[in-house]
Amino acid sequence: KHSGGGNCYRFFTPAMHERVLHHQKIEAELNQAIQQNELRVYYQPKVNLQTDAIFGMEALVRWQHPERGLLPPSEFIEIAEHTGQIIELGAWVLAEACRQTNYWHQQGIASLQVSVNVSGYQIDQRFVEHVNEVLATTQLNPQQLELELTESILMNDTPAINVILKQLRDIGVAISIDDFGTGYSSFERIRALHLDVIKVDRSFIKGLGSPDDNAIVDAIISMAKTLKVKILAEGVETTAQREYLQQANCDAAQGYLFSKPLSSASFEQLLTDRKRQ
Ligand code: C2E
Ligand code: CA
Ligand code: CA
Ligand code: CA
Repeated sequence: KHSGGGNCYRFFTPAMHERVLHHQKIEAELNQAIQQNELRVYYQPKVNLQTDAIFGMEALVRWQHPERGLLPPSEFIEIAEHTGQIIELGAWVLAEACRQTNYWHQQGIASLQVSVNVSGYQIDQRFVEHVNEVLATTQLNPQQLELELTESILMNDTPAINVILKQLRDIGVAISIDDFGTGYSSFERIRALHLDVIKVDRSFIKGLGSPDDNAIVDAIISMAKTLKVKILAEGVETTAQREYLQQANCDAAQGYLFSKPLSSASFEQLLTDRKRQ
């Protein structure tokens, strides 16, 4: 925005102009992407650290762009939040992830819990009704759905968010706190939210082996145990990290060590290969 004094225009550099044009292009193309089925949901397994079983997966959006190939969310999520397109995009991801999860359940391939990322911009009075409608349309068991909200959204201690979370819990949908450790949540706030899962941010897992990060991860795990909240480590890439987390009694993990996010076809292949073993 160029509100404020006329002096602001002096700082509108050619690079900024480029950026605006790029955003406008993405905005226009994204409208088309949603209409023309260019969005994809990729799935990354969530693994139980004690049994090694895949018990669920995180749904991660991708954009199969006609010219630029498969685009990661960093190329378009922020823009979609800025333009409001995140509402339509988020609704599409939620419905597709629920449909696919119920399909795998119905086909006897696996009964898994899918977690779907929710942007703060999606959370409003109608959100719970929307989730209910999607569950009804896709026939997915609510217990098979988890919604991931970032720590920054959840720390917004407003009556509205508290009511919405309670209503979601009442339906049977699980709630997890994403990127945990990057914000400033208080123990009391986390207790009040009645969360189901804490997802420890990748930045701490990356640092495992250093005394500081070991201590932080240990502290998060012991806090989660006190609150009786499940704990999942994000971004596990090495066996050393997995072994540390196992001995520290972390419940679950996700990361390249187990698998990168996969297309639905490849994820289904992974599930059937695992079953045959
Ligand atoms: P996130 O929710 O924290 O998702 C985890 C990200 O870490 C994913 O990136 C995943 O591919 C990546 N990752 C998983 N394991 C590893 C690992 O072992 N090492 C490393 N280096 N990275 C790993 P991705 O798919 O690019 O997604 C980035 C972010 O975009 C997500 O971060 C999430 O904030 C957002 N996002 C993705 N899909 C959606 C969506 O459907 N809706 C919304 N609102 N946001 C989404
Ligand atoms: Ca997430
Ligand atoms: Ca995360
Ligand atoms: Ca993140």
